[in-house]
Amino acid sequence: MKTTPRGLNWRDAKHWGGTRKPCIHCGRATPLRDDHDRPAHKVCAENAEATR
Ligand SMILES: [Zn+2]
Repeated sequence: MKTTPRGLNWRDAKHWGGTRKPCIHCGRATPLRDDHDRPAHKVCAENAEATR
């Protein structure tokens, strides 16, 4: 079984918004949502977590 070495676990369906919206971090379109239901790439959210 493959595990993520670091970062967030976004395998849950709640992180898929269905439509593409501008990422709140980088402004590029993404179908993903963060824990607060905001459009965000996984890597962008991870970077935001790391720099918090
Ligand atoms: Zn992004």
